[in-house]
Amino acid sequence: MLDTRELGRRPGSQREVSRTVPAPADLGIEVLRVPEGAPVELDLRIEAVMEGVLVTGEARVSLEGECVRCLEPIDDDVDVTFQELFLYDDQDLQGGDPEDDGVSMLEDDLLDLEPLLRDAVVLALPFQPLCEDDCPGLCTECGALLKDDPDHTHDAVIDPRWAGLTVLQHDEE
Ligand SMILES: [Zn+2]
Ligand SMILES: [Zn+2]
Repeated sequence: MLDTRELGRRPGSQREVSRTVPAPADLGIEVLRVPEGAPVELDLRIEAVMEGVLVTGEARVSLEGECVRCLEPIDDDVDVTFQELFLYDDQDLQGGDPEDDGVSMLEDDLLDLEPLLRDAVVLALPFQPLCEDDCPGLCTECGALLKDDPDHTHDAVIDPRWAGLTVLQHDEE
């Protein structure tokens, strides 16, 4: 939660805020996530406008997960950016509940950054995280890590679809 009262609701007044907060639980996606409690470095600019407060920010988070190809652990960090207008919750808004339209609201001039951070982090994450862009994955024969053993081979196994042909060739000889 970020207090915006210092801005005094004067359109045009703004403030830079830098702070480090612990990561909330379940931030990220199943295969790649921010460890709960890990420091999230926030650099924010909050600016009062007519109908609310505009937040522009950047967050740096650490990530852990595993490579979808080789299952090796991934230890990384990512910078995400976000911007959102939060409306004052006590103004007379026509047309029902603005939260239904996906509009963010201030609550008693406090701003909840968590949903914003969640969306920004999830958007920034790859659905198929890799330990490196060209991770070769695992050997389909024995499960060895091909990254560590790229020249790894097995004796050629005759594909059963070709086995019949080999027999034919022997007959002709
Ligand atoms: Zn990998
Ligand atoms: Zn192998």
